[in-house]
Amino acid sequence: MNHRPAVMFGAPRIGRDEIREVVATLRGGWIGTGPRTAEFESAFRTYLGARHAVATGSGTAALHLALVAAGIRPGDEVVTTPLTFAATANAILAAGAVPRFADVGLETQNIDPERAARAVTKRTRALLPVHLAGRPCEMPALLALARRRHLVLVEDASHAIEALVRGRHAGTLGDFGCFSFTHNKNITAGEGGAVVTRSAGSARLIRMVAGQGMTANAWQRSRRGGSSGYRIVAPGFKYGMTDLNAAIGLHQLKRIDRWWRRRRAVWTYYTERLRGLPVWLPSSGVPGGRHALHLFTVHLDLARLNAGRDRIRAELAARGIGTGVHYVSLHLHPYYRSRFGLRPDDFPNARRISERTLSLPLSPHLTGGEVERVAGTFRTVLERHARPGR
Ligand SMILES: *Cc1c(COP(=O)(O)O)cnc(C)c1O
Repeated sequence: MNHRPAVMFGAPRIGRDEIREVVATLRGGWIGTGPRTAEFESAFRTYLGARHAVATGSGTAALHLALVAAGIRPGDEVVTTPLTFAATANAILAAGAVPRFADVGLETQNIDPERAARAVTKRTRALLPVHLAGRPCEMPALLALARRRHLVLVEDASHAIEALVRGRHAGTLGDFGCFSFTHNKNITAGEGGAVVTRSAGSARLIRMVAGQGMTANAWQRSRRGGSSGYRIVAPGFKYGMTDLNAAIGLHQLKRIDRWWRRRRAVWTYYTERLRGLPVWLPSSGVPGGRHALHLFTVHLDLARLNAGRDRIRAELAARGIGTGVHYVSLHLHPYYRSRFGLRPDDFPNARRISERTLSLPLSPHLTGGEVERVAGTFRTVLERHARPGR
């Protein structure tokens, strides 16, 4: 149909600095957790204005570690959104707890604080909101709920590094903030994540549990010239970031604000170009805060179209436009449906979004021409399927 290269969804932008730093790390002889990871932690902490940051091997590991540090035990419940990536609920299950879902708002796509309050039971120990697509959750209401019911508040800020709530970064408002630097996030380390917290004790615990429950990691031991100088004081995992990944992340972090402004320009262009189509367009406006602009998710107005979301996606793909779905609600997936006996209409807003949502490419990697092509192709495909006006 066309011979131009496809516009990939979620393609990272990797510069010469990242490549040079990775090569220098490989040549330097220390590729595991070491000085570059420490430098990344310090730079990330500074960017966020967070007290402590521990870099991890993934965002999933960050969530699991935060829940362990929160003291979550088997049988506990954690209230979260169903409209999220598998990792959010998988981390709850890995901590031995049970996810209790609360429906989202149709416009915010984030957990509805009132529904979250109703989902809290005697067994609930934590709240795990997700700042979906980069839009910060209604944090004042969630913080008040956590205080009222004595719950630990863990923020899944995987989409929301740049998001602000009343001048403070998403992830720094609750007890723990979890971030992901996997390949398709706003910045990447190849793979990676981080937990931030105000508590020095929690940060120490997280660092230890991330390193097999040992009191010192290999880098610290090598600097002390001994290899057996550690004690195992807790059960742990191998959840740390490597210097090879930190080498990438360090240079990405330097461009985070420039890239956010680039995504904002793309967002504005899409908003103008796609006006009048049978779709709901997301708003980047956040009263008293800032949207991280991670995903440009539109909701198709299925009543005014003669094709469903998957058909539209397939036609866009055939024309070389990659898109994403964020997300099909977890309660519609077989494991959660059957294990927790959930029905599609238990969370009507999450279900409605699941059927209609589609994310257009928003990476700073895109050229101006590619952005125009995405919008133009989307317009063409939607106009072909638009039902005659009512
Ligand atoms: C990406 C993501 C994570 C964690 O992802 P990793 O791939 O483990 O880094 C967690 N929650 C959400 C909502 C995500 O999108």
